[in-house]
Amino acid sequence: MLTGVHILLTYGCTYECDHCFLHCSPRAEGTFTVAGLRSLYDQIDSCGTIDTVYFEGGEPFLYYPLMLEGIFMAHSRGIKVGIVTNGYWGTSEEDAELWLRPLVGLGIHDLSISDDKFHFGDEVSPAGRAIAAAQKLGLPVDSICIEAPTVRDEGEVGKGEPIVGGGVRFRGRAADKLTVGLPRRPCSEFTACDREELAEPGRVHIDPFGNVMVCQGISIGNVWQSELEQLMREHDPQAHPIIGPLLRGGPQALAEAYGVAHDEGYVDECHFCYDVRRKLLDRFPESLTPRQVYGVD
Ligand code: SF4
Repeated sequence: MLTGVHILLTYGCTYECDHCFLHCSPRAEGTFTVAGLRSLYDQIDSCGTIDTVYFEGGEPFLYYPLMLEGIFMAHSRGIKVGIVTNGYWGTSEEDAELWLRPLVGLGIHDLSISDDKFHFGDEVSPAGRAIAAAQKLGLPVDSICIEAPTVRDEGEVGKGEPIVGGGVRFRGRAADKLTVGLPRRPCSEFTACDREELAEPGRVHIDPFGNVMVCQGISIGNVWQSELEQLMREHDPQAHPIIGPLLRGGPQALAEAYGVAHDEGYVDECHFCYDVRRKLLDRFPESLTPRQVYGVD
């Protein structure tokens, strides 16, 4: 049952991180309008099952008045709100409080602030100041810390087995930037996707172009063309040209279904899946969208 909608308020971001799923950057285009948010909330209400929205991106604080209006709308409809930000606005703890004070009392149940070297290198982190300000204001704040992928010692999990430190998944820009030099496993091992609920999504991501995604870049429809409630009701995972094969046998089955040429091995299933999907972009433009997520203009 769909209970959560993650609103990709914008693909624009202050940074251009190697681990970003969505190829966000200062140059990326695509931002919600207030009319778009209003329409989306009406659709969310019609679903009758959604109790949580997240504002994320990109960097949602880049469009602060729009984000705030969207939070007001959620609050007035009794919907819980989460926010994911890189905290770039934490120029000082006192200034960070200016950004956060209007959010107090608006039903924010999770404020996740990225505080890691991908975003800030070794510099003193604005995210750290933002976290301190949120704590002072009593907002429920968490830090997200993603580490570079590493390879564990032989005795630990087996020679050459890569681990994803702190949660990097090899999709989007991470598939290109962070897989270099990591050991790969044979494609025959990647016969399932157990990282997203592709058949019965409990949450979806919706972007400014209306795409409803069950995994980044896999769309089940567009809310500017059909109502969200209708899209969810009519979602037929087995008949979907991308989700169907993934459910039947993971990225290996997806590659086989369409005869996609691929490497002999990949770092993980997402790495394999993303490579195959990118090669199928022109064949399934309605299901594999937006192209922004694939780093294609
Ligand atoms: S295997 Fe593919 S569909 Fe599944 S989580 Fe990874 S990228 Fe998404």
